[in-house]
Amino acid sequence: MSYRCVGIAALVAILVAGCDFDPGQSDQSTAEDTSLSKRGGKPKPPPDPEPTTGLFDPAPAWPLCGRITENPPAGWTPENGCPSDRFGNPAYTDGPISSTYGPRPLVSGGYRYDFHRGLDLATPLGTPVFAVADGEVRIAGPHSSYEDPLVQLRHFRPGAASCTAGDGCYHTNYMHLSGWVVSEGETVVKGQLIGYTGESASEFEHLHFEVRNAPGAHDVYSNWQRDAVHPLAFLPHPESPNASNMSVAITDVDVSTASNPKPTIQIEMPSGDELDLNRIAHVRELAETASSCD
Ligand SMILES: [Zn+2]
Repeated sequence: MSYRCVGIAALVAILVAGCDFDPGQSDQSTAEDTSLSKRGGKPKPPPDPEPTTGLFDPAPAWPLCGRITENPPAGWTPENGCPSDRFGNPAYTDGPISSTYGPRPLVSGGYRYDFHRGLDLATPLGTPVFAVADGEVRIAGPHSSYEDPLVQLRHFRPGAASCTAGDGCYHTNYMHLSGWVVSEGETVVKGQLIGYTGESASEFEHLHFEVRNAPGAHDVYSNWQRDAVHPLAFLPHPESPNASNMSVAITDVDVSTASNPKPTIQIEMPSGDELDLNRIAHVRELAETASSCD
């Protein structure tokens, strides 16, 4: 699947190329696998159950503690950690989010389709980063599976004392770090300082934050890329007051190439709202229905 997104304030148009699906990397999300099997005429598997807050800490901190360094409390230092009154409090988010979870055109890859597994929080290099929940440090610093230093934490389910069969654990990744102040195997508490932000290879100063959530049916410690879920299913955030004011319409279907129909989908939303990638997934369902690719 490839798509192009052109957005100006209140109007976003998405061109969905009907059937030229590129499965791309093997670690694409379950949603992509679902889409592919639909196109191939195979039975569509039942959707994964919606993640619920019960699988996570019900009152997590945000990894930048509501951007606390931009307006720190009197006398506060990063070593003090994230104040507990910010835990689970949607008034303290790390927004704005510079890139959210879900499909996106990869600018550095010639606009090749990419699936972004976390949230990017643009922030100056050296911004302190905090544990979003109690956990154990699995990785601190460089790791062969990642381009830049990171911290990875493992978290038990609420009320659990271990990673258990049937429930597993969840993991959080704090990536592109310039520094880290914890060590592998160490136990950390929610809100504890764990490191400092850095920049990606493109010199974009930000924190990439991921939540990986696997049920533990086969591997109670599973924390693969494919296990990444939308962090906003986990982090507290205010609902957009304009969320119900969005409209979606298929305005045209270009069938000049019969094997590759291109529906144009127009999304209108109030100015200032961020495009929600859950809704893009919905739009793609519409597009696939309209293009009759099966
Ligand atoms: Zn990222």
